[in-house]
Amino acid sequence: MAALADTLGRQETAAPFAIELRGISKAFGPVQANKDINIAVPKGTIHGIIGENGAGKSTLMSILYGFYKADSGQILVGGHPTPIPDSQSAIRAGIGMVFQHFKLVQNFTVLENIVLGAEEGALLNTSLGKARQVLKSLAQEYGLNVDPDALIEDLSVGHQQRVEILKALYRQADILILDEPTGVLTPDEADHLFRILRGLRDQGKTIILITHKLREIMEATDNVSVMRRGTMVATVKTSETSPEQLAELMVGRKVLLEVQKTPPVPGKVVLSVENLRVRDEDGVERLRGVSLEIRAGEILGIAGVAGNGQSELLAALGGMVKASGVALLNGAPLPLAGPGADGQSRREAGVAHVPEDRHHHGLILDFAAWENVAFGYHNDPKYQKSALFMDNAALRADTERKMATYDVRPPIPTLEAKNFSGGNQQKIVVAREVEQNPDLLLIGQPTRGVDIGAIEFIHKQLVALRDAGKAILLVSVELDEIMSLSDRIAVMFDGQIMGMRDPARTDERELGLLMAGMTGENAGAMKKEAH
Ligand code: ADP
Ligand code: MG
Repeated sequence: MAALADTLGRQETAAPFAIELRGISKAFGPVQANKDINIAVPKGTIHGIIGENGAGKSTLMSILYGFYKADSGQILVGGHPTPIPDSQSAIRAGIGMVFQHFKLVQNFTVLENIVLGAEEGALLNTSLGKARQVLKSLAQEYGLNVDPDALIEDLSVGHQQRVEILKALYRQADILILDEPTGVLTPDEADHLFRILRGLRDQGKTIILITHKLREIMEATDNVSVMRRGTMVATVKTSETSPEQLAELMVGRKVLLEVQKTPPVPGKVVLSVENLRVRDEDGVERLRGVSLEIRAGEILGIAGVAGNGQSELLAALGGMVKASGVALLNGAPLPLAGPGADGQSRREAGVAHVPEDRHHHGLILDFAAWENVAFGYHNDPKYQKSALFMDNAALRADTERKMATYDVRPPIPTLEAKNFSGGNQQKIVVAREVEQNPDLLLIGQPTRGVDIGAIEFIHKQLVALRDAGKAILLVSVELDEIMSLSDRIAVMFDGQIMGMRDPARTDERELGLLMAGMTGENAGAMKKEAH
């Protein structure tokens, strides 16, 4: 027995790694995207690579897949040095890539897409019929059910992703790379994906899973490597680490994964809304009589599945769409239609707005960061040189200060907004709006696409604003975020508020029921009580 264990142990350590990268470096001009990276991925495991936006994860994988040529370093596949100058070489070496932005032809069928471009492989001497058989057995073996004759354009994002995985398996990939695969998935679809990945792993495949989400790493991986600013800082067994440790490794300092806040001290009513209604272009009522109040010094969180009127609520209060009903800001009427019902008037009245969709409403992507920081606030006297000219120097200095405070990277005010990562774009918008010190802040999906160091920071800013006696209306589809930041929670369903809850006296299950439109018989009573 001892000898057997010994042999097994030795075999295990002697088994070649599926992939080994040694001393990989890659620069893009002045940016050192990868610095002397070493990583070894054991066969038959799910290996996570985690790191904040810009840490160098995608670059490293692009080198492994032959998209980029490393400046130096070596790739070993199955223990053998294997140069990978292009993606054909990667495929020959058994490496498959599941792209973040799918590369499927929309008006082709699943089968056509899978066979397409596999010129060198089985297709030349295989009929489509035979491909259909291979696909069927792949689908059965790995629980990857997709209709081979469906058009890609008719498939959900989750199913399109399965087609990408099948495409790689059809090319006989033994090693699958998935770069941020859950960014486009619902939580249910993500769970399904992880089940598929575990199945593939159990069949001996090796999976490299890239993500910046701690929960996914903890849930899905066997080992995890952490990248920070182009370097590989650690590789650990997932069972021997914790979200807190990984967060610290990623960010380079301790990160509070929980929001720290003291009990609220609500003051006077800042916003009061009665019977707010919004119709869309087709005349469908999206907001069906919403009433609420927010006091100074409190955060009212709106929970709900996306598309239940939360966006319309923010848009109506932000002056971006017409609404009916009554709204009062500090006791004075807030016009919901006609003159004064526009974003500019709102800002002048003391309402700041971080819109849900920063690309369409929060930023002008072709404009520089400093211009975006002035966006909407250009009439502010502190930015005016004279009646006609803005004080550009003052604006740039102001932007530099905000960029430093909000740790916007890179801190270059003249860089166009489109050249920042999503998380950094969000920091620019939040900095602009929060720093106006508004009486009321409307904020939608504050941390969508933002990584953990920045999430912690944005949450702190919101709590600080609330502690400074301001009122905040927070809309988020992340229930965790709603539960940890809100002083009161309103749940929206089908354009109405289904109930108000005290976060200390509710849980995800109860909120989930309300989000699905199921009311407790006393939901109305609790709504009053919570005020
Ligand atoms: P991650 O995937 O971890 O978010 P990336 O590998 O995409 O990080 O990027 C690492 C760094 O390299 C970033 O600073 C990014 O801006 C830069 N970078 C990535 N690709 C290119 C490119 N093609 N040209 C110039 N810079 C790039
Ligand atoms: Mg990436």
